Amino acid sequence: MTLRLYNTMTRQVEELRPVRPGRVSMYTCGPTVWNHAHIGNFRTFLFEDLLRRWLEASGHDVFHVMNLTDVDDRTIAAAAERGRSLREHVEPYVTAFFEDRDYLRILPAHVYPRATEYIGPMVRLVEGLLATGTAYRGDDGSVYFAIARFPAYGRLSRLDRRELKAGASGRVSSDEYAKEDARDFVLWKAATPLDERVGAAWDAPFGRGRPGWHLECSAMALDLLERRWGTRVLDIHAGGVDLIFPHHEDEIAQSCAYTGEPEFARHWLHGEFLNVRGTKMSKRFGNILTARDLREQGVDAGAVRLLMYQTHYRQKLDFTDEALAGAREGARRLGQFHSKLSQAADPGDGSAEFAGAARRFRERFTAALDDDLDAPGAVAAVFEFVREGNRLLDRRERPGREVLEAWSLVARVLDVFPNALETTLPADHPGVAAGDGQPGEAPPGAGLRERFEWGVRWQLLRREAKRRKDFAEADRIRELLGRHGVTVRDHRDGSVTVRVEG
Ligand code: AMP
Ligand code: ZN
Repeated sequence: MTLRLYNTMTRQVEELRPVRPGRVSMYTCGPTVWNHAHIGNFRTFLFEDLLRRWLEASGHDVFHVMNLTDVDDRTIAAAAERGRSLREHVEPYVTAFFEDRDYLRILPAHVYPRATEYIGPMVRLVEGLLATGTAYRGDDGSVYFAIARFPAYGRLSRLDRRELKAGASGRVSSDEYAKEDARDFVLWKAATPLDERVGAAWDAPFGRGRPGWHLECSAMALDLLERRWGTRVLDIHAGGVDLIFPHHEDEIAQSCAYTGEPEFARHWLHGEFLNVRGTKMSKRFGNILTARDLREQGVDAGAVRLLMYQTHYRQKLDFTDEALAGAREGARRLGQFHSKLSQAADPGDGSAEFAGAARRFRERFTAALDDDLDAPGAVAAVFEFVREGNRLLDRRERPGREVLEAWSLVARVLDVFPNALETTLPADHPGVAAGDGQPGEAPPGAGLRERFEWGVRWQLLRREAKRRKDFAEADRIRELLGRHGVTVRDHRDGSVTVRVEG
């Protein structure tokens, strides 16, 4: 089977047909770095990460571009409010975004163009549109796109003219007198004193100003595509559903009017929202949770990824503490199975029955992801294999090469195992050093290392309790450790394995 994906443009699940077979260019609209990205934003970035990983696992050579929106209304307003320049204001959020991305194990894009570094291509694009008459300079000095000159406008969002008008009239009326048609959108905004104050104004032949948000993506995508990939049409363009209109509709209008190509991207993919009690997670609604909040709570990225992938990207996902707790439990089970499987591995062919189960797992997993990235289906296949694998391991069947290879897809594509630390303390381990004192009843922090060190100290006390034949205390310690994700496994030779998972 080949990869089939829902295309917002045609409203159908279609086979992915890249411009050049085997090679896929993918542009994903990145964060606006006015503030910390929240986990709603990261739901979209994680869906795109799965798409990227599955394309690569299926043998495609992917060129992935994600922009950073570092100049727009929100970044300018936030910088002005703090009395900083635009650059000073966004820099820490860019750094934070990359840290969060790495925490969530999102593969880095190949390029992260920043809007402020692509002013040249943006100016050229506007000049091109002015030259053909698809753009015009308004009375206010801003440059607008003339929608009447682009008959295909509205194809992606399928809004009819009446709806487009209604959407447009919601904008500030002071903008409107400058436009020939209320639906026209701004390409280049004439500089205001506020823009000048934060350093968000650039000279251009059509007047000093700054780019409109939609223009940024078209210019960055086209510039990188042409220079690095040799085409003017993207294979995949993705983002959250809120970008369909007007952002992506406007990107199409600008780009196609400029290149003369019938399409800007072959495939348009949009991920649904992450909600909190039915409402979109958004700074505006004051219901946000950031990736760093989760990290501080000691939540492992594997659990966050599993939580996201348990829902199809085209379904809304309601974020709850219970769902997160369930995903943490699920990720732990997967991590434990992974460790058992590796320990039992046979370097040769191993059990034929095991190999058969792995083959069925691989088929189900692949079929699910090929079918419009059905991650919940892939996750179900994983858990089914865990159940079957545990039964086989109990019967001392050994997993061979084929099993391990099939299973490695889970780490490569979903990457949902929790991080773990593990050590085996020999029977004659010197024990707790004098003056170490009694460890607390809870770990000093939620981090993996803090829990691990705390667990090791308790395990040494547990060994002492056993030596005194105080089995009640030994059991109590085992339970206490278990509550904080630390497991202890006693071996026949008296050594003990302490393991902690995220
Ligand atoms: P922004 O930083 O606002 O430019 O958004 C970055 C990305 O996050 C875009 O692709 C949005 O569509 C997406 N996004 C924003 N809010 C949510 C949400 N609550 N759930 C899922 N995706 C979102
Ligand atoms: Zn964009």
